[in-house]
Amino acid sequence: MALSLFENALKQFNKAADVMQLDPSMREALSLPKRELTVNFPVRMDNGSIKVFTGHRVQHSLTRGPAKGGIRYHPDVTLDEVKALAFWMTWKSAVVGIPYGGGKGGVQVDPSLLSDSEIERLSRRFFSEIQIIIGENQDIPAPDVNTNAQIMAWYMDTYSMNIGHSVLGIVTGKPVDIGGSLGRNEATGRGCRVCAEQAVKYLNDKGVINKPINKMTVAVQGFGNVGSFAALTSQQECGATIVGISDVSGGMYNSKGFDVADVIEYVKTNKVIKGYPKAEKVLTNEELLTLDVDILIPAALENVITQENADHIRAKIIVEGANGPVTPEADEILIKKGIFSVPDFLANAGGVTVSYFEWVQGLQWFFWDLDRIRQALHSILEKAFADVADCAERYKTDMRSAAYVVAIEKVAHATKLRGIYP
Ligand code: NAD
Repeated sequence: MALSLFENALKQFNKAADVMQLDPSMREALSLPKRELTVNFPVRMDNGSIKVFTGHRVQHSLTRGPAKGGIRYHPDVTLDEVKALAFWMTWKSAVVGIPYGGGKGGVQVDPSLLSDSEIERLSRRFFSEIQIIIGENQDIPAPDVNTNAQIMAWYMDTYSMNIGHSVLGIVTGKPVDIGGSLGRNEATGRGCRVCAEQAVKYLNDKGVINKPINKMTVAVQGFGNVGSFAALTSQQECGATIVGISDVSGGMYNSKGFDVADVIEYVKTNKVIKGYPKAEKVLTNEELLTLDVDILIPAALENVITQENADHIRAKIIVEGANGPVTPEADEILIKKGIFSVPDFLANAGGVTVSYFEWVQGLQWFFWDLDRIRQALHSILEKAFADVADCAERYKTDMRSAAYVVAIEKVAHATKLRGIYP
């Protein structure tokens, strides 16, 4: 029987726990979520009828700080999925060293079937329902699949109305005009670019490769928020040549490199990259993944590199922009092939890092300029990359297990320091 998402997450965790010989009682304490809340709540539809929806908020860990994680609206949301996503948020926050635990939420709903006003009423009611466990010092939600800045604005307003004053720190991913942060939009893609740059430096320093990033070719799968900014910043700031790009409409290749800003302009008007005129040839998404490039950035979907295609991957470095783009079986194949992977919860941690900056700015009602945000993001991710690479050497293990070890060490240490109450 196939493992559930949470069981899969535990499998990765246990592999790292074995590497670091984690004490069994700590293993148990860190495996289980601290709190799981399920709410069934009524929403008035536009035609006057009442529909009951089910939602969840899970707090996996609160040891290093308040829980942090998005809320998704999707018909397939389950408690098991939300638990797995909350669990990963704990390790993502810990690996980059920001003072958060892990949380996640979701409502079982297909938002494409609702009007804007129905989505607003659903959002306000759901947020009120979970208010018993959230708060700017307890648990700070954010956007995820099918939720956006407008929904964060409704959440912030709902909470503020219930409390009696404006509370900026209650959610992140808000519009900039009501306390959102500059640089949040580009943060995850920018984080991928920092990790790619660090990986190249590291492998050059170790003598594994002999090529600077500005002589390297890159393929990026997915041209949405993460993929487009990863491509843009890698090209404009690191001098890398982006030879392959793709999205849901297919892929394309240009041996001289795409002008990424120009492709972004094209997508603004045409929604997808299909039909972009300055390409040498059209590719399928499968062909894009197996291009002969130096760096591959899968930044679209989960499970795109599997045991079927892993052996055909020719990139030397993979920077996992998406969550879970490589299956565990494929991971073993890539490791054997000597491909250097920056795991998802490090490579895409730029988003949660700038969310943390948004929260800090909101708590202080004092806002930073873009340069300060970018500098702080770069230094956090550069340090996290170095910590994980050191750990991989220390334990003679792969980067994914090392990232878990770094994160687990921090949470386990904090748990020991705090002790058991009472
Ligand atoms: P997005 O919706 O902005 O973009 C997704 C892109 O993937 C689009 O270009 C879309 O066309 C493409 N795509 C969809 N189906 C595809 C397919 N079958 N083949 C190829 N491309 C396909 O989403 P995003 O915010 O960029 O998120 C991408 C991934 O990164 C997701 O796994 C998400 O969980 C993860 N992630 C995002 C953030 C963030 O801050 N946005 C943070 C952490 C992780």
